[in-house]
Amino acid sequence: MIIDSRLHILGVPVDPATFDSLLETIAGWIRQGDRLYQICTVSPEFVMIAQDNPDFMRVLRSADLCAADGIGLLFAARYLGRPLPERVTGSDGVPLIAERAARKGWKLFLLGAAPGVAEKAAAKLVESYPGLKIAGTYAGSPAVEEEAEIITRVNTSGADILLVAYGAPRQDQWIARNQARLEVRVAMGVGGTFDFIAGVVPRAPRWMRRIALEWLYRLYKEPWRWRRMLRIPRFVWAVLRQPRTKNQE
Ligand code: UDP
Repeated sequence: MIIDSRLHILGVPVDPATFDSLLETIAGWIRQGDRLYQICTVSPEFVMIAQDNPDFMRVLRSADLCAADGIGLLFAARYLGRPLPERVTGSDGVPLIAERAARKGWKLFLLGAAPGVAEKAAAKLVESYPGLKIAGTYAGSPAVEEEAEIITRVNTSGADILLVAYGAPRQDQWIARNQARLEVRVAMGVGGTFDFIAGVVPRAPRWMRRIALEWLYRLYKEPWRWRRMLRIPRFVWAVLRQPRTKNQE
């Protein structure tokens, strides 16, 4: 990623990525094969968690690519005079990665979500993209005690790309913490993506996404999220209170 075109929102980096640039960047990293590259899908919730969690802030700031996975970030970027090209969500990005992986022979490992969900999501992806190689699936947990076993599973699977669904901030901290031990080329935190792909949780209809109301649909389907979602108005307030310096590093 071209770092100097990076925008910072309340200290959190946001890259002006598109789905096309995401796929090209991943292809480049896999070709290079020199180390593990980390992708975070940043939402307003991530930004607000990072304000009170220095370790999560450090993880986001050292990630190789921070995609804007939340309409609030697009509004904030526009307000700051640095509009982003598009919303790059994990839920839309993962099927595109799977499609490219099927063509290129990249192997995916799906880690996280409730037991059985990653398997179901993997089956759906293979059905949609014949030839896709799933190196492995495993629910596990982000607990430190399980790390060694999970890393062995991932490394012995021969996966190129690891998708981790433990929710933020744990999924991204998990990847960063284990960066040196993981042998995959690319690792990405994907939140509730497996739930959507597996059909366990329905995704907002396209028209709602188009008018920036995906968050409202999520709240309606999963009302327990209300407390977490209070971070959204707090995000708006925090952005508006900032001086409009274009890059709030
Ligand atoms: N999850 C998990 N283990 C945990 C916590 C969460 O497997 O200890 C999974 C959860 O089942 C879901 C995913 O993490 O599939 C994403 O969670 P959430 O919806 O909170 O993420 P968001 O999409 O809001 O970032």
